[in-house]
Amino acid sequence: MSRLVTAYIALGANLGDARATVRDALLALDGLPQTRLLRASGLYRTAPWEASGPDFINAVAAVETGLDAHELLRALQALELQAGRERPYRNAPRTLDLDLLLYGDAVIDAPELTVPHPRLRERAFVLVPLAEIAPALVTADELRAVADQAIERL
Ligand code: ADP
Ligand code: MG
Repeated sequence: MSRLVTAYIALGANLGDARATVRDALLALDGLPQTRLLRASGLYRTAPWEASGPDFINAVAAVETGLDAHELLRALQALELQAGRERPYRNAPRTLDLDLLLYGDAVIDAPELTVPHPRLRERAFVLVPLAEIAPALVTADELRAVADQAIERL
């Protein structure tokens, strides 16, 4: 058994039954190999941000995993595909988006994977649910900086 790492994953959906998609994805995270769900935030509704289409449903999950960061990213991408995701153009509406926010304290700068996620601290739909499940990881100043972005806890 490899070393277990705590990773944080952002979930977002804005097509179809987005709430059901996000709930199913949380369960699917728990079903990944060598991975269990530690905590999940509530569901949040947010207006599209640099994206188009209906409102998003967002959440953040903490998992404990024996997968390495690249294996975890590939597993997340497989779940996106299972949810019927297509990528017709950048920031297109999506059935499911799974972003790896943090992988332990790893700093990764590879072509296909940047960790910590470069836009983590810019987005209320990531910071607010992350603060809910891991308050030590988000500062009050960071939350204030995104306070103009509308977000509603469901
Ligand atoms: P976005 O999530 O930015 O809206 P996509 O989900 O289409 O856009 O991701 C585009 C690419 O971002 C993916 O092909 C993936 O390889 C890359 N990527 C880089 N870092 C990460 C990360 N931390 N989590 C998820 N994807 C990442
Ligand atoms: Mg993504």
